[in-house]
Formats: sequence, structure tokens, C-alpha cells
Amino acid sequence: MKQFDVAVLGGGLLGRLTAWLLADQGCKVVLLNAGKRNGEDAAAFAAAAMLAPTAEAVDATPLVIQLGYASLPIWRQWVNSFPTPVFMQQNGSLIVWHSQDQALAKQFSQHLQRAHQDSSVWRLWHNQEISEHEPQLAGRFQQGLFLPTEGQLDNRQILLVLADELDRLQVNCHWRCSSDLAECAALAHWTLDCRGYGGKSNWNRYGQSRLRGVRGEVLRVYAPDIELQRPVRVLHPRYPIYIAPKQNKLFIIGATQIESEDDSNLSVRSGLELMSALHTVHPAFGEARILESLAELRPTLNHENPEIRYDKLSRVVMVNGLFRHGFMISPAVSIAAVHVLQALMQQQSLPNAQACYDIDVLPVSQNGEGN
Ligand SMILES: Cc1cc2nc3c(=O)[nH]c(=O)nc-3n(C[C@H](O)[C@H](O)[C@H](O)COP(=O)(O)OP(=O)(O)OC[C@H]3O[C@@H](n4cnc5c(N)ncnc54)[C@H](O)[C@@H]3O)c2cc1C
Repeated sequence: MKQFDVAVLGGGLLGRLTAWLLADQGCKVVLLNAGKRNGEDAAAFAAAAMLAPTAEAVDATPLVIQLGYASLPIWRQWVNSFPTPVFMQQNGSLIVWHSQDQALAKQFSQHLQRAHQDSSVWRLWHNQEISEHEPQLAGRFQQGLFLPTEGQLDNRQILLVLADELDRLQVNCHWRCSSDLAECAALAHWTLDCRGYGGKSNWNRYGQSRLRGVRGEVLRVYAPDIELQRPVRVLHPRYPIYIAPKQNKLFIIGATQIESEDDSNLSVRSGLELMSALHTVHPAFGEARILESLAELRPTLNHENPEIRYDKLSRVVMVNGLFRHGFMISPAVSIAAVHVLQALMQQQSLPNAQACYDIDVLPVSQNGEGN
């Protein structure tokens, strides 16, 4: 006897959001997550949670950028609706470079111009504007690019507030519970697979997985002498970094992007690179205290877009491929996934591309997927 309408398998970022949306709409939901309630083990626990569709356009696909811009106001609305305050800042972000890296800055600006027709999404700041808006960086950088629409969240506050919301909505949550599709099928009529990298074996095409993990490493430091008003990215030929200032003088420094599925501890090399680059931004970072170093795998599909797959026969919807943009795009992706699941549950036709923010929604049988 199935007790639940939907079993959400994996309760990192996407699993929590979809379970929350479904429960809020009256579904009886069970959530099974291998990691703890605080989100440890999820890529989302390590993330800097920057909402940066302008800067990411330099590397990311047009779909991801579109999803990023669509998601910003949704985050704002959701954060305002939570009973517990969550740190969300939309104060823009600043890209800086050392004078010897001027060529990199030129290249970056050209990428921005190519990616964005709307040139109001960035502004060139000179020394004076940098001093005015980021006094501690005064005199350290001659120029910078200010990206006014960008923002950031506190990743761990979001994970916790969503766990609280799931309790409030009486979602049956099983933390530290590694599970599989068969177990979910026994519990619920439908399964929503949000396992991130943990779902790798279900994204096979002709026997090979299209989902890979991309290693990312970050440092969390306490720097009481530093005051930054917004995330700062430093362009650098070898060690590009970002510094995301959170509350209480906490700074997240990241992130490496290494084509490896090794999620063991931060390497000495990466640590040196992140810390050297950090120290060049302001010497007071030299006295910062290292609170944590983390390495996690970003779940990445071959085309580096998110994707939704469904199997009507086994009643499974799989959502994955949030790569390095999970926080930036998860509102749009979770809403699309819920639309698809609800249409399948009610045996209606699938929502159109517009309702799914143009995310690919495909049956698992196509191209041998799921074999
Ligand atoms: C270092 C780093 C920095 C990042 N910075 C940013 C950033 O600044 N901005 C941004 O937008 N994104 C960022 N990201 C990306 C973002 O964190 C991911 O895209 C996002 O977390 C993916 O969400 P997800 O729910 O698909 O996967 P996850 O968050 O990894 O969650 C998957 C969950 O599934 C659970 N699970 C796995 N297998 C099983 C199983 N068998 N049974 C039950 N549960 C299972 C896991 O325990 C986990 O809780 C960063 C990622 C990393 C690693």
C-alpha cells in the first residue's frame, strides 16, 4: 500500500525545493536523503550560492543564463516568505583584475558584450567608483566591472530553512537515509529523483553516463578586518577566484573547477592557489582564520544544461545537471520539474516549453537513456 503521492529521492538543494513546492500544493510527500538534515554531503553545502547570471554568461550556456535571470525574482519572493530570515543580498558584484592582467579584462568584457545585448547589466568602474563603493579596495585596483543585477544567498541558511519548511508542511523526511528508485516506488505513486551526482547511474546513454561530477573546492574564512559590500571576482590567468562575503565576517573563497570525480579533501595546491589569490586582494586576508575547506562534486550533464527526464511506466521523473549554477537556476528548474510531475500525475499533456522555462523534458527511452 503506497502511503505517499510523491517520494523525493535526494534532499540537497533541488530535492528540498521540489518537496517544498509539492507539499505546499497539497501533495503527500516523503523525502529520502543520504546526507544530514543540515545538508552536509550535498554539493549545495559547499556552494558559495552566488546568483551571478551576468558574469556566468562568459562560460555558461544561454539557457542557463536565461534560467538564472528568471530565478532571481523568485528567490527574492521565496526568501521574503520564509518565517526565518535568510541572508539574501542583491547588491551586484564586482569583477577586478591586477594591472598586469588587463588583457584578460578586455577578453572578459568582450565575452560580456557578446553574451548580453543589454549593456546596462555591467558598468566600468574606475578607481574613484571602486573607492566609493568598496572602500577597502581603494587604490588596489585601477578598474573594475560592476554587475548591478547579481546577488547571493547564504547556502546553509537556505538548506536549513527548507528543512524547517518541510517539517511545517508535514513532509515525511528521512535524513541519513540512502535509498533507491525501487524503495521509493514501494512508498509512493511517483518518484522525483533529485540525487545530483548520486544519480549518475540513471543518466546512462548506451551504457555510458552522461552525468559527471566536476570537482569544486572552497575555503570558508573568518576575516574580521575585511568589509566587502558584495561578491568580488578576481580575473587571473591561473587562479581566478571569487570572494563571497556572508554575514558575521564570513567569506567563502572559491572555487576550483577540476575535471575529476575525486571528492576527497582540498589539495595543498588548490589551497595555495586560493589563498595566494585571496591575499593579493587585501593583505588583511592574511590574518583571516580558515574555518573550513570543502570539496564537492557538481552534477554536470554533457551539454552543461539542466534536464528533466520522465518514465511513465515506472512513474519516475529525474531532474539533474545543475552543474555550477544550482543556486542560480534552481527556482526555475524546481518549478518546471513540479509542473512536469503534476501533469504526469494527472495524466494531462506535458507543460509546454515556455512553462518549463525551455528546459528539455524528454522520455527516458529516448536515445537509450535509462538503460
Ligand atoms: C564548491 C562549489 C561551489 C558552488 N558555488 C555555486 C554558486 O556560487 N552558485 C550556484 O548557483 N551554484 C554553485 N554551486 C553548484 C550547486 O551547489 C549545485 O549545482 C547544486 O547543489 C546541485 O543541486 P542538487 O540538489 O542537484 O545536488 P546536491 O545539492 O548535491 O544534492 C543531492 C542530494 O542527494 C542526496 N543523495 C545522493 N544519493 C542519494 C541516495 N542514493 N539516496 C538518497 N539521497 C541521495 C545527497 O545526500 C544530497 O543531499 C557550487 C557547487 C560547488 C561544489
